[in-house]
Amino acid sequence: MHRLYEEGDITVFWDSEKCRHAKQCVTGCPEGFNINRKPWIQLKGVDTAKVWKAVSKCPSGALTCLYNHGVRIIMDGDGYRSVAYDGEKEIGECCFLVTPEGWNIYHTEVDDAYGGKGIAKRLVYRVVEAAERSGAAVKADCWYAEKVLG
Ligand code: SF4
Repeated sequence: MHRLYEEGDITVFWDSEKCRHAKQCVTGCPEGFNINRKPWIQLKGVDTAKVWKAVSKCPSGALTCLYNHGVRIIMDGDGYRSVAYDGEKEIGECCFLVTPEGWNIYHTEVDDAYGGKGIAKRLVYRVVEAAERSGAAVKADCWYAEKVLG
């Protein structure tokens, strides 16, 4: 299961298959990470530096995080894609096909001027999370998305 949690200036990613339940996140930042509630990650009002530090202690790589750089990611289900915006300007997309076997991510692209900010990873995670929430399987013909899926 893949989830992303966007709050303020950071996005936290969680890949449940990598989680070893070592709980460094829970002990490091109990306000943000609490396995006794749903969703177990809630970042509203939690100090960004504390979240970042707890995520960096995750020994399995199940948790990762990135700064948002003011870029918003939205799901455009009707357009079969997730989209990145800097203000009103579209700067990236992750496109998928819905097939009888599940969702197939075939293209991910971010404007060169915004490279190195992790925007492509956020785009892919947004699509994968939407697919998983709808009960669909996910595969990727897009090499980058395949790399993110691991
Ligand atoms: S620190 Fe990482 S491996 Fe440990 S419980 Fe949290 S997410 Fe899972």
